[in-house]
Amino acid sequence: MRILIVEDETELAKRLVANLNRHDMTCEWLECAEDAKSFALEGFDAMVIDLGLPGMSGLELIRFLRERNVRMPILIFTARSSWQEKVAGLNAGADDYLVKPVHIEELAARLRALARRAAGHSEERLTCGALALDTAEKQVYLDGAPVAVTGSEYRLLAIFMHKPRQTFSASEILDHLYTLDEERDSNTVEVLVGRLRRKVGRERILTVRGLGYRLQA
Ligand code: CA
Repeated sequence: MRILIVEDETELAKRLVANLNRHDMTCEWLECAEDAKSFALEGFDAMVIDLGLPGMSGLELIRFLRERNVRMPILIFTARSSWQEKVAGLNAGADDYLVKPVHIEELAARLRALARRAAGHSEERLTCGALALDTAEKQVYLDGAPVAVTGSEYRLLAIFMHKPRQTFSASEILDHLYTLDEERDSNTVEVLVGRLRRKVGRERILTVRGLGYRLQA
């Protein structure tokens, strides 16, 4: 999963980026709402916006995005447990909220649920033919039997399982695996797809010539 975080508290933001990474989420972090206005938002599964931002507020940012038909799920951070702030956020177009201090486990679970619902799934377990991916257990199943996969293999399969009809280019896959400032090697995707195919069956991941890869639905 790919998450965009807009948060002005540096310490908190860094903690989120590092900890959500352990929940298989690749995060990009922006410090202010203005930066988010011009940021390429395609390819993110969900966005986290702190309402208390300097300059343009989180609320204004949400309105700006929704007016421009940005449909991705948005979770807001509210500093106080004031119900008015939550209501204002939800009315502006946010999908969920958390009151600070933020608990990583809860944030990760909410983000997973938001991304899953946005992709049209209601359950923790995503299935495609004989393949199943349990997003809560972080476990892959083939014909009901657990398959041992590495962290990167799991992340790759999760990209496909969330959107089983979509073809992903190598660069879109890399965006899900690495942050924009991490070093990338375009061979990574080919190698990883090869390894995953050996574990779940060659025929289950199709190469779409010139475009990328997708699941055999
Ligand atoms: Ca803040």
